[in-house]
Amino acid sequence: QTDAAATPPPTPMMAQYIEIKSANPDCLLFYRMGDFYELFFDDAVEASRALGITLTKRGKHLGDDIPMAGVPVVSADDYLHKLIALGHRVAVCEQVEDPAEARKRGAKSVVRRDVVRLVTPGTITEETLLEPGRPNYLMALARLGGSGPGATFALAWTDLSTGSFRLAETDMARLSTDIAAIEPSELVVADPVFHDEAVQPLLRRFGRTARPEPQALFDGATAEERLCRFFGVATLEGFGGFTRVELAAGAALIAYLGKTQLAARPALQRPERIAPGSLMQIDPATRASLELTRTISGKRQGSLLATIDRTVTGAGGRLLAGRLAGPLTDPAAIRERQASVAHFIADMTARQRLRATLGGLPDTERALSRLSLGRGGPRDLAAIRDGLQAGLAIAASLDGDLPAELARAAAALAALPRHCLEPLAATLADDMPLSKRDGGFVREGAIAELDEARALRENSRRVIAELQGRYAAETGVRNLRIKHNNVLGYFVEVSDGQAKALTEGEGVARFIHRQTMASAMRFTTTELSELESRIAGAASEALRIELATFDRLADTVVGCADAIQRGAEALAVLDVSAALAELAVAEDWTAPLVDDSLAFHVECGRHPVVEAALKAGSGDPFVANDCDLSPPDDADAGAIWLLTGPNMGGKSTFLRQNALVAVLAQIGSYVPATRAHIGIVDRLFSRVGASDDLAEGRSTFMVEMVETAAILNQSGERALVILDEIGRGTATYDGLSIAFAAVEHLHEVNRCRALFATHFHEMTALAARLGRMKNATMRVKEWEGEVIFLHEVKPGVADRSYGIQVAKLAGLPTQAVERARQVLIQLERGEQGEKRSAFVDDLPLFSAVVRRSEAPERPADTALRDALAEVDPDSLSPREALEELYRLKGLA
Ligand code: ADP
Repeated sequence: QTDAAATPPPTPMMAQYIEIKSANPDCLLFYRMGDFYELFFDDAVEASRALGITLTKRGKHLGDDIPMAGVPVVSADDYLHKLIALGHRVAVCEQVEDPAEARKRGAKSVVRRDVVRLVTPGTITEETLLEPGRPNYLMALARLGGSGPGATFALAWTDLSTGSFRLAETDMARLSTDIAAIEPSELVVADPVFHDEAVQPLLRRFGRTARPEPQALFDGATAEERLCRFFGVATLEGFGGFTRVELAAGAALIAYLGKTQLAARPALQRPERIAPGSLMQIDPATRASLELTRTISGKRQGSLLATIDRTVTGAGGRLLAGRLAGPLTDPAAIRERQASVAHFIADMTARQRLRATLGGLPDTERALSRLSLGRGGPRDLAAIRDGLQAGLAIAASLDGDLPAELARAAAALAALPRHCLEPLAATLADDMPLSKRDGGFVREGAIAELDEARALRENSRRVIAELQGRYAAETGVRNLRIKHNNVLGYFVEVSDGQAKALTEGEGVARFIHRQTMASAMRFTTTELSELESRIAGAASEALRIELATFDRLADTVVGCADAIQRGAEALAVLDVSAALAELAVAEDWTAPLVDDSLAFHVECGRHPVVEAALKAGSGDPFVANDCDLSPPDDADAGAIWLLTGPNMGGKSTFLRQNALVAVLAQIGSYVPATRAHIGIVDRLFSRVGASDDLAEGRSTFMVEMVETAAILNQSGERALVILDEIGRGTATYDGLSIAFAAVEHLHEVNRCRALFATHFHEMTALAARLGRMKNATMRVKEWEGEVIFLHEVKPGVADRSYGIQVAKLAGLPTQAVERARQVLIQLERGEQGEKRSAFVDDLPLFSAVVRRSEAPERPADTALRDALAEVDPDSLSPREALEELYRLKGLA
């Protein structure tokens, strides 16, 4: 009690702050005060650490100093960017009434404030916060049917900055693969699912991106109704069929958007369902190891995407990235995309014209989304204008016989709303200010009223200049000036010494004293104040008209959002098709034959990224190599190549390049080869090179085994598997055994197409027994004790490992190299006489073992195993042991 009496209550402002903060506990609160957003208490400490801004204090709360940090409103975007990148969420709290209103309520009342928006990684739309060529996805994960085996999962994701909205059902086994394919910036999960022991390890991979939200958002019973309400339709049937769990995910996503965007309603496109199996499955480890959209170290530079991306617009770049993340599995759809690329290869003029037109265009999709959210500026209107203009011009220039995909794009462009373009073109000025706040974006001559108000404003300025001249002449004070500041408005200023001319004689009546400064005096006149109110009136009238014009134009644009959106998508499709054509021509790529067979035949294939690196670096040519995993003549399943050869010989490059050819072929691109025939790959697995998963606390070997297990458990005959040096991280015989078993399993059980690189030369003997396995090796030349890598793949087996030569190349001290040579000679002598391949030859064929153990376990087996586990032989007398044996036999 005494405490309470001693500490003063919080100020009204602090009380307001605390109330708003407690409603948004998991966000940093940006509390608007004048030209700053202020942060208080722990938020201030956190923000000053994260942003490197000064931590100060302001007043006291319960007797303690209140820590405070602030960021200027004008540069808030930069700070938001940093905080979001660090995984924070920010609640932006604005003043929602005029301070004059608050003053009317009483001297002590504070301006009303409210959170107008939560800024989270998945919901940003600002140009400055987004990467142009990268989609920014918000995703919701829903689960229905509890945590048991009957549970169903679905994902819903949207790129708020473009409005795309997709749904897909998934399951526990595919979950992390499907999430990784989308690479969401933010993943919301129902609280109980988030904390479920079975799901948590999967989510951990996505770090701070994944966050729990209340279960209510995910309610399956009301999902359909909520979606209908959002899209303003009576039924979702018109959008296609969705499963219950898909609806739950979609509704959760929309509920979360409502929660973060508050008043604004994002312009989402109608939901699109991604059918199961329509995309090539690429799990996160494979995606990372193939460096599809980013390198192992997380950079875009050096990834496949960066190497092949010749698009000229942000939307085109995003579409290409999206396609690369999810290659197709339907040959017809792939051929349709190929035809678009072929069209632009054949017609170079059309390609160049299109790319030149698209090149300078602003990002129409993102401008549209900002306008729909009420966050747009004059430049967004200009972007729509330019996009519409370019779209219509391109539609007119696309003529003749177009392949289906391009014909659809042309139709979408021809349907762009001219009635929306006309007012924009007629009204907007050529140079656009960043913000609409000060006006200046409506062109002269567009609106008569506005021209009038502007003329009056300009005119009054001239009158002021004339007035200054006149006063100077009349008073004889040559350096009399009429100036302006925010406190006094317009005033007449003269220096101290000359004030007399205004305060004596005739002047007294006209010049009214306002202020005495150190060396100057300030006056006003009736004429001047009248002029001032005319100027202010004209300026505010002009601004009012401009702002009203902005709203009208923005409404027109938002009214045509669907058509503009489809047009923007069409431009992206054109950009990607022309860019892939440009790439194919520049790099000499060919159209692969893609069909439903199990073929995989690449002639003179190349690795696009390594090739580009060689070109930019040493200038050495890339050595092209063939790969043929098609089913051999009499077989009904694909082949396996076992690749041996020294380190640095080019094994992993060869492995990866073939995986990349499959990916490129299935996104509808041409491929780096002279000829390619690819039977659809439905799943791609790559385990190339060691990837330490230290965050998960697993050793390299453990990670390798977990990934190998996934491959052996999940690959079907349409899979393509790339395995590099399995079994390296353990003792030689362990490792060899595992590699051996893995190849046999792939051949006999998975029956998939595979490339397997190994250092265990013993394994090459397997080719004699596995009908669809072939040995291949990297050619090497020895010259005066040095090893020369030819990077050429040829049939056969490597004769040696050349490990010591490679070590020498790497700069191992000469003494150590010499010592290693001696040890090697000793070891090789010791081995002589032994049959090298005995290890392989003495083992029964793997299939014989596997086939039996593959049969599902019967309940009796389980009971028998449990009973066996209980037996403690050491404690049994011979008689008891015999009894036990009878009992066990009874269970079998
Ligand atoms: P390995 O997996 O056998 O150790 P890599 O595939 O990592 O070998 O290749 C080592 C280096 O050799 C690469 O970085 C690249 O510079 C070069 N290289 C690989 N393949 C080729 C090729 N086909 N043509 C030219 N250079 C190549």
